[in-house]
Order: sequence, then structure tokens, then C-alpha cells
Amino acid sequence: MQLRPHARGMRHIDLTDVQLASSETARRINRDIVLELIRANQPISRADLSRQSGLQRSTVSQIVEQLIREKWVCEGAVASLPRGRHPTLLELNEDLVVIAVDIHPKEAIVATVDLKGRLLSRSMVPLTSDPAASTRLLTDCMLRMRQALPRKSIEGIGISLPGRVDPETQRLIFAPNLHWPDFDLKKVIEKAMGLPVKMANAATACLLAELTFRRMDGVRDIVLVTVSEGVGTGVFANGQLISGNRGMAGEFGHVLLDPSGPRCSCGRRGCWETFASCRAALRYYKELQPQGRTVTFHELLNMAEEGDEFAAQALEKQAAYIGRGLRLIITGLAPSVILVAGDITSAWHRFGPAIEKEAAKLTLGGALPQILPTHEGDIARLRGAAALVFQRGAVREQLLEAGKESRQSEEERKLP
Ligand SMILES: [Zn+2]
Repeated sequence: MQLRPHARGMRHIDLTDVQLASSETARRINRDIVLELIRANQPISRADLSRQSGLQRSTVSQIVEQLIREKWVCEGAVASLPRGRHPTLLELNEDLVVIAVDIHPKEAIVATVDLKGRLLSRSMVPLTSDPAASTRLLTDCMLRMRQALPRKSIEGIGISLPGRVDPETQRLIFAPNLHWPDFDLKKVIEKAMGLPVKMANAATACLLAELTFRRMDGVRDIVLVTVSEGVGTGVFANGQLISGNRGMAGEFGHVLLDPSGPRCSCGRRGCWETFASCRAALRYYKELQPQGRTVTFHELLNMAEEGDEFAAQALEKQAAYIGRGLRLIITGLAPSVILVAGDITSAWHRFGPAIEKEAAKLTLGGALPQILPTHEGDIARLRGAAALVFQRGAVREQLLEAGKESRQSEEERKLP
């Protein structure tokens, strides 16, 4: 039977603190651990997998056969070891790909991403306020991409959204920047493409991508902040992704900073994102240069690099407000790492120090978290959308099992 990966119940397998679970989920969890070890150490032999996981050779072999059947893993090079042994090395199957969709208010980026997180193709689709018409354009683009990759096995479609997705209904419930009426995006795309669709807020998806492709082993408290038309956050606390009631956790972008501040897309005034988003930077520039032409955020970044003093000041103000909002997050959640995603990561030499300087004004006794740009920030959201599909089924079941975890058995043991 072909197992389909699930996006829900996203728990990261941390290889520095692996506990083999007991009960009926053990086999599936061990399978995830083996898959993550292959991802982190590929190419790798079965013997090394056994050594690193602490699992029996025969158990590893069984799991590997299953992963090969499911097309997650393939056999590649043959290693040459002393005493004439030539084990076949295992690696992730490059032919398994996902269609990743990153939706912004006015456009979507559609891409194909492989199991290693690499982009194979990418295309831009303009979006309007009509979700049905926009979705037709999206599925046309996806169909063209699928036709262009006849040899690849497409596992599903992952969509990162500028809003929150109800984990139960999988419908978009809060996307003030998108201006779409209620619309069952998932159902329409699944029907048109005949593939499973997984959706999540862009920040949560980015966070999942960092956990999946960058590893971040040993780090149990991370907040990821996306800075674009709005400001979104994804929260990983005590080693778990936090979704909250109806998937609404992490809306720090709509926390009030100043009740007399600018009107926000959510209808209120003075939310953090009205001061820290890329739109805010454009407003700061306009205030400094009222007669200047209207520019895009990309242009603003370039202008600052070319020495435009007003552009630099506008970005500096945005960075300071990002740092100021981070203080809320640091106070409330005490993450050890804050990751920042979005176009601003391409000018990190400018943003990083300014954000840190502002955030450092608060230290409640604890150390300031590391504040880092996402790995390959420009494609972080696409990799996030891909990671939604590449999450394995066991992760969901593991979460469902979480309540039963106290029921330990003698099979349960700690890995070396
Ligand atoms: Zn708001």
C-alpha cells in the first residue's frame, strides 16, 4: 500500500534526543527516524544506519525496503570498504517531487521541489480578488509543470498561505491581506490535479522547512518570523510546533503596538505589522520623499544599496520595528533561536544588526536569542510549502499518540 504523507500533527524528529516509542506506533516512528538519518547523512549504508539509530540490522533492512517501495529512498553508489566489503549506499530519491505554491496577496509562486529541498522549476502566477479565477490560473500552471517533468513522481501539492488554516476543516480562516471570500481552495485544487493538497500559514511552513531541510537538531524553542506584505510567525516551543485553537497561534503580527497607529488590514489600528512589514517600509520612504515615485520593496532594497539615504532610513526604521516586536516574542516565549524569512534576508547586513540592536534593549535575565536569516531566504516559503507534503504520516500519528505517551513499556529505550 502506498502511504501518503500528512501535513498535520507536525512534530520534528530531533536526532540528538531520539526516544524509540513503544506500542503500535513504534514501527512508524522508527521509519521516520531512519528516513531523517538518511536525509541528514546521505549517502549512508544500512550498517551505519543501524549504528546511528541503535536499531537492529534486520529492523533497519525492513524499514529501508519499505522506504524504497514507497519511493522515499533509493540505492545509489557502492562504497569501497576494507576487507572487500561493498555496501550499497542509500540516499533520498531525487525523483520524488512536490508542487509547492507560495501565495502572496497579488501573486503566487509555483515551483517543483525535490525531497532534498532543491527547486527544479518555478513560475509566477498573478492573483486577483476572485479566488475561483485565480485558482484556475494556478492549476493551469501546475499542469504545465507536471507535463514538463514526465519522469518525476509527484507526491502532492503544498501551499503556503498569508493566513491561518483551520487544522480540522483545512479552510483558510484568517487572511486579511489576501481579500478572498470564503473558498475551499484545497478541494478545488485536489479535484483539478488529482493530488493531495496540504496547506499551512507561510510562517509555519517556513519553520517546518528549516526543521526538515536545515535540521536544527537540539534546538527546542524557535520562532520564525516572515516579513513581507504582513508579518507572520510560526512557533516551535518545547520541541513541538504550536498551532493553537483553530490553528490561530502565532498571530503576533496583529498584536497592538500603538492604538493610534496606521490602519491594519485586519481592521484594527497599530498592529505590529503596520510598522514592521515591507509595506510599512514603503510608507516610511514616502513620508521622507513625498514627491518621489512609487517604488516596490525590491527597488527600495536596491536603492538603499546604491546609497539612497532615504531608502536606507526607511529600511532602518522597519528593522527597528521588527526588533521592537521581537521583544514581545522574546518576553513571551523565550526562544533560543529566532529565524527571519522574507526579502529582507537578502539585505541581512543591513537588517540583522539593526534588529538585534533593538531586540537587545530587553533582556529579562535570559540571554538574547540568536536572530538568524532563514537558509536561502528567497525560497524559504517554497521549501516550506514542499515540507508540508514531505512530512511523514507517522508524525501525525505520533501526535495523536502524545496523550498516551505516559504508557511506557519495556520496549522503550533511549538511543545512544
Ligand atoms: Zn492587524
